[in-house]
Amino acid sequence: MLRQLARSRALQQRAEKFLPGGVDSPVRAFRAVGGDPPFVVRGEGAYLEDADGNRYLDYFGSWGPMILGHAFPAAVEAVREAAAHSASFGASTPAEADLAELVIEAFPSIEKLRFVSSGTEATMSAIRLARGFTGRKYVIKFEGCYHGHADGLLVKAGSGVATFGIPGSAGVPEEIAHFTLALPFNDLSAVEAAFAAHPGEIACIIVEPVIGNAGCIPPAAGYLQALREITSRDGALLIFDEVMTGFRIAFGGAQQLYGIRPDMTTLGKIIGGGLPCGAFGGRADIMNQLAPLGPVYQAGTLSGNPLAMAAGIATVGHLRENQKQIYPQLEERSAAVAEGIAAEAAKAGVSIVTNRIGSMFTWFFTQAPVTDFTTAAASDTQRFAAFHRGMLDRGIWLPPSQFEAAFLSTAHTAGHVQETIRAAQEVFGVIATA
Ligand SMILES: *Cc1c(COP(=O)(O)O)cnc(C)c1O
Repeated sequence: MLRQLARSRALQQRAEKFLPGGVDSPVRAFRAVGGDPPFVVRGEGAYLEDADGNRYLDYFGSWGPMILGHAFPAAVEAVREAAAHSASFGASTPAEADLAELVIEAFPSIEKLRFVSSGTEATMSAIRLARGFTGRKYVIKFEGCYHGHADGLLVKAGSGVATFGIPGSAGVPEEIAHFTLALPFNDLSAVEAAFAAHPGEIACIIVEPVIGNAGCIPPAAGYLQALREITSRDGALLIFDEVMTGFRIAFGGAQQLYGIRPDMTTLGKIIGGGLPCGAFGGRADIMNQLAPLGPVYQAGTLSGNPLAMAAGIATVGHLRENQKQIYPQLEERSAAVAEGIAAEAAKAGVSIVTNRIGSMFTWFFTQAPVTDFTTAAASDTQRFAAFHRGMLDRGIWLPPSQFEAAFLSTAHTAGHVQETIRAAQEVFGVIATA
């Protein structure tokens, strides 16, 4: 049953000579689940193929961007065509306003936006702008939320930071972390207390409206609305970090699904269709504080890159035209795989808690409901690792950490879902007795 990974192992050893841990992003090293990380050589639709010729059904989708599956033909063609006219100019191109218009139509709270090259840049720039606009210093974030790796946001962060059990990061001065207030998610009294302790000093709340980076954790009923009311009352800004949820849980993201209008929104992942791209945007009076109109500086050599714009327009354009069909199908198939696997776990006597919003979901190996980082962290990560390895052996590639959400793409069929549930049935049979 064990897949042959000799070629991947050799590639990992070679990469380790030149790259710390052999990787450019920590979770790719598979340290949380053990075993050899397969080296990917190509993808098509719902499948990945590794250097040893193994095929996998992909349930992490490049950590979110690949909602249309790999090598989506219209996106490939758009990038090919753009590349033929040069990869970069450092001057304005028509495509930037084209993608901006598509995004603004999808997110009515965004009146103006600026493109950057990653989600990290989007959140970092949004926070600088929030501070510049309000003239305040403190930022509220929530435990287990990941907003990229800017210094002030690496405090009780999710994603790889949670996976490796790091409370923050070395190299972030206390004086910088001091201005980040990290509060438990889904706990309004903690937010009220922070505003009471720092009246007129909090620039913004930044939140993943549905947490994906501690595994999938939805907001409690009324929670996001209350964050909207508290920030409005105090004059602080509300920033929805929709780098993961934007175009994912609904075409217009979490703000469409929950009917909330944040002051600013950050986007990434899907917006670039797999090319490096992010964006931050929001109210025009706030965005007009950016240079060259205002005093808040922000810039990028490759911002609005023509290849990223081309892939983004192809991806977001396809989602826009087919949204009535795409999102219900993602919902139905994600429900089938999430609940199907939960049912197999129950039959095998393995305790799991299944959290899902649209095509974003996590099976937590725990018993009590997962509503914040503390309850997520109660998961049995050893058992998750055994589940992950068993699934990978059977050709199902789940995100390699308990604290990362799984995703479905439009290329996943009902047949793929059944294949995945059958694999899980076998794996639960093994780990239930282990
Ligand atoms: C992925 C992610 C980021 C960081 O984006 P990068 O492109 O990896 O820098 C920020 N916020 C959220 C919610 C994310 O999921």
